[in-house]
Amino acid sequence: VLTIDEAQRIVLESVAALPAEVMPLLEALGCTLAEPVVAQVSLPPFDNSAMDGYAVIAEDTRGASREKPATLRMIGDVPAGTALSRTVERGTAARIMTGAPVPRGADAVVIVEHTRPGGAGGVEVLVPAMPGDNIRPMGGDIQSGQVALSPGQRLGPGELSLAAALGHTDISAVRRPRAAIVTTGSELVEPGRELPPGAIYNSNQALLQARVVSAGASIAESMHVPDDEAAVEEALRRCASADIILTTGGVSVGEYDFVKNALQRLGEIKFWRVLIKPGKPVAFGIVLGRPLFAIPGNPVSALVTFELLVAPALRKMSGREDCAPRTIHATLLADLAHEPGRREYCQAVTRATEDGYVVEASAKRGSAMLTSTVGANSLVVIPETSEGLRAGEEVTVIYPVYRDPWA
Ligand code: AMP
Ligand code: MG
Repeated sequence: VLTIDEAQRIVLESVAALPAEVMPLLEALGCTLAEPVVAQVSLPPFDNSAMDGYAVIAEDTRGASREKPATLRMIGDVPAGTALSRTVERGTAARIMTGAPVPRGADAVVIVEHTRPGGAGGVEVLVPAMPGDNIRPMGGDIQSGQVALSPGQRLGPGELSLAAALGHTDISAVRRPRAAIVTTGSELVEPGRELPPGAIYNSNQALLQARVVSAGASIAESMHVPDDEAAVEEALRRCASADIILTTGGVSVGEYDFVKNALQRLGEIKFWRVLIKPGKPVAFGIVLGRPLFAIPGNPVSALVTFELLVAPALRKMSGREDCAPRTIHATLLADLAHEPGRREYCQAVTRATEDGYVVEASAKRGSAMLTSTVGANSLVVIPETSEGLRAGEEVTVIYPVYRDPWA
């Protein structure tokens, strides 16, 4: 039996970042960049207009006003995607659209709102312009040769579109972990079937699948086996090509032997049982060269142990730097009883208010009570020595849970 801090340390020491893979930009959403992205072009690639208006020589508009407009002759139109071959010379202007290259000679763009039509197709400028007005200079965002994205960067919509703006279709990112899921229990029936007496539906399969996907990992295998040592062992062998193996059930005191025996035959157990509530019977080991988490069967225990141990492992495998669960301080809205002993984690809803975070824990504390998880986005942490937390107290909360904290 060990503390959760020791358990987390052992888990994070036992797993490593997965290798990089070149993948299409969209597939890399949420992944960690593996190799630098160096700008092959400048952004913008050319001086261009930030507004719809007229490309002018600023000097020509000096002192312009509604009463004394600067009248300029029109030499052409520059819609986006075209370029003007003519040069803007003193006394002339070109109509220009947002994103179009600024024609040679011009040093400012006057917005349409500061002009009115002049005679003979010309334009009257009503407000003086300064050189550079409404022009986005070449390389103003990034210059060719500069590093646009560095390894370790998490790839969200902004980062991926920057890669696209630089002309890339693919990117080298840390591969998503592929998880194998094995639920155990002879009492379990697949949802959709009829429920025989004494049986319950297998909900942990949906739970683990959903949590694996919401962590940005993928599902390599998902299977169910009865409480039978040979069946467990055979199932584990089918998981050997996954990056991580998750089992549920068969780890409580009465049952531990058959999962334990299978683990010991195929690998090494690093720990069994952690001083937490719920989730105490969780086990971790290396089986067939893969990290294996033997997660307790009680559904709320499964969620909590996933957050505390499996999610950090998936983050490390995904190339993240800060892998431990994130904590905040929040004001507790109602008393929470506790008997000193294990560190306890309560399903809770945390909200940001003008006065900081507030947290409301579910009144249901049972490790089999799945309704306690509805709407939950956080876990209130009750320290092992606590004799209960009081309403109004500042408490430690793991937030967010059940999703990637970078999402
Ligand atoms: P175990 O860890 O196998 O002793 O299971 C502890 C409790 O969790 C028992 O009440 C099991 O019926 C329940 N349980 C185990 N596996 C699942 C599952 N896949 N879905 C729903 N409940 C489960
Ligand atoms: Mg069982």
